[in-house]
Amino acid sequence: MGDRFDAAVVGAGAAGMMAAAVAARRGLRVVLIDHAERLAEKIRISGGGRCNFTNLGASPAQFLSRNPDFCRSALRAYGPGDFLDLLRAHRVSWHEKHRGQLFCDDSSESIIQVLRRECEAGGVRWRMPCAVRAVGREADGFRLDTVTGPIRAARLVLATGGMAIPQMGATDFSLRIARQFGLRIVEPRPALVPLTFDPDQWRPYAALAGVSLEVRLSHEAAAPEDGGKRPRRPVRAEFLEDLLFTHRGLSGPGILQISSHWRPGDPIRIDLSPGRDMAEALVAAKTGGRQTVAAALAQVWPRRLAEAWLGAAGQAAGPEAGDARDRRELEGLAGLRLADAPDRRLRALAGHIHGWTLWPTGTAGYKKAEVMSGGVDTDELDQRSLESRRCPGLHVIGEAVDVTGWLGGYNFQWAWSSGVACGRALTAD
Ligand SMILES: Cc1cc2nc3c(=O)[nH]c(=O)nc-3n(C[C@H](O)[C@H](O)[C@H](O)COP(=O)(O)OP(=O)(O)OC[C@H]3O[C@@H](n4cnc5c(N)ncnc54)[C@H](O)[C@@H]3O)c2cc1C
Repeated sequence: MGDRFDAAVVGAGAAGMMAAAVAARRGLRVVLIDHAERLAEKIRISGGGRCNFTNLGASPAQFLSRNPDFCRSALRAYGPGDFLDLLRAHRVSWHEKHRGQLFCDDSSESIIQVLRRECEAGGVRWRMPCAVRAVGREADGFRLDTVTGPIRAARLVLATGGMAIPQMGATDFSLRIARQFGLRIVEPRPALVPLTFDPDQWRPYAALAGVSLEVRLSHEAAAPEDGGKRPRRPVRAEFLEDLLFTHRGLSGPGILQISSHWRPGDPIRIDLSPGRDMAEALVAAKTGGRQTVAAALAQVWPRRLAEAWLGAAGQAAGPEAGDARDRRELEGLAGLRLADAPDRRLRALAGHIHGWTLWPTGTAGYKKAEVMSGGVDTDELDQRSLESRRCPGLHVIGEAVDVTGWLGGYNFQWAWSSGVACGRALTAD
């Protein structure tokens, strides 16, 4: 017959442990199943080993979804302050790093231990490592065929996260099972991921690998999703964050943020000198002696960037948008004395600096992505219980749902909020 439980949670990560702990502490018999050898690897490696576990400003505005409002109810019912209460109860200390991002003082391991202790306090049963071979529906719930034998449960929670970092065991399990029960899926994609370019076109910039600077990045959605039926995602996204040049393209927090909005074929726009009027600054600096254009730029940028970027931007076949005439204005500018450079060419340069428009050809993929965007369509789920509308008793939580946070602690907050919402709903019968 196999063991019988009130709820089976597949995926002992951030959302799954939270849901299992909440339901078990309210008296349910809960089994938590995970195929991994080590518990919650993504929590462990997150935030550089210190887990950026929430953001004080978390609200639906920092989430991408076909229905950005879907997360509102779970965030309201269990927000950053509630998670901080849990950490206080377990004597875990933290600090704020940047724009509301909270990190552990010690290591991510403390978060894993909090969740493990919460699960143990509720008497959660563990099946780990344990792969699930198949899932079927029965009259009074679900049957899971696992490598350690069958498990029966009245309710099933899919909490196996997204497909980012497959080398650490990420799979599409939740999406596959959701599909099996007829739930629609929003096409999954790597998100919070470096952007890449055609290698030949990127070559002039490859020498800049390792250079980083603060920029303003923006992206405008070329067309609403779903052929115009539901233009729900924001049309324009803009971030003031660091950019990092790499051998294959661009990375750094700013690019990770914009990558979640980017779609193949879209350009991205980068202001390489936000908050400064470069045209005015360059023209005014003409009176300042014999310095070259590159040397003038090196006063506001790293020298390596000033020289190499200027040289690359003037080459004919780069990854930029724009016409050849603009390119010609930039050609040979780097070594020209500022005093000899016509104002027209300096203004063209300034325009290029403030509006560097690039056409990425792809992303670095799930291997390098922090999250997966897309997932189980929110239209399929009740926003208070995360329960399927078409398959009662089936819940989907965490990253497997089409709710993707910005960089900065929002994805874990969604995992906690959706986990708690589901855990409470499991006990509401
Ligand atoms: C490098 C990196 C750094 C990150 N840093 C941050 C950060 O600082 N702040 C932040 O908010 N977010 C961060 N994230 C994102 C965050 O880790 C995830 O959004 C979050 O863990 C999602 O929670 P989840 O419970 O849905 O999935 P996960 O935490 O990924 O848990 C899923 C669990 O399911 C298990 N599983 C998978 N497939 C199967 C299967 N077929 N059968 C059984 N079990 C399975 C996995 O082993 C895993 O334990 C980071 C991600 C990465 C990759």
